[in-house]
Amino acid sequence: MQIKNAEFVISNTDPAKCPKDTKPEYAFIGRSNVGKSSIINSLVMRKNLAKTSSTPGKTQLINHFIVNNEWYIVDLPGYGYAKKAKSDRKSWALFIEKYLLERPNLVCLFVLLDSRLPLQKIDNEFMIWLGENEIPFCIIYTKADKLGKMAIEKNISALKRDIKKTWEELPTSFVTSAEQNVGREEILAFIDECNKNYSSSS
Ligand code: GDP
Repeated sequence: MQIKNAEFVISNTDPAKCPKDTKPEYAFIGRSNVGKSSIINSLVMRKNLAKTSSTPGKTQLINHFIVNNEWYIVDLPGYGYAKKAKSDRKSWALFIEKYLLERPNLVCLFVLLDSRLPLQKIDNEFMIWLGENEIPFCIIYTKADKLGKMAIEKNISALKRDIKKTWEELPTSFVTSAEQNVGREEILAFIDECNKNYSSSS
């Protein structure tokens, strides 16, 4: 898919105030610092559409971007920032959960996992919650350029083995590097395919 344009639309904490639900949308979520903003910027080939930040937990909003005037990218707040107050974490969970459970045009949620790390409890629990609530998701393994090819392959195999302990079938996944634009074409092709199915079924 060619990216002709990508623009910021709106940020909010109230799922009811998101743009009208007439276009397919794809949301991105993961622990703070996993590389979410970088992946979004790499997908649309813009340096600063989503803000990359070294301050974990800084973006606490649901951010909508429109791509090619056809579909939305949604940048969701990073989760699992240990220093946040418990009450903050709770309100985070509530509005994100509401968004994920009630957004009718959410086609797929991309869950980002750092390809260098073992499966984190918070990510595993979150994916289990997605399954329980029948929210469709894919996995994006991030920062694949940071280790050698062999080490990354080994680590991703270990991640998949651990994920398979919960899932009969592994979710669709993409190995990516925002730095080197690896995995970008594959994700865009996947979105393109979903968009076609979306328009033919609506
Ligand atoms: P976010 O908090 O999940 O949005 O993460 P960011 O996109 O802000 O990235 C966090 C840090 O990881 C930044 O310093 C990025 O430059 C770095 N980073 C993100 N993606 C990659 C990648 O694919 N390769 C490398 N080497 N660094 C990355």
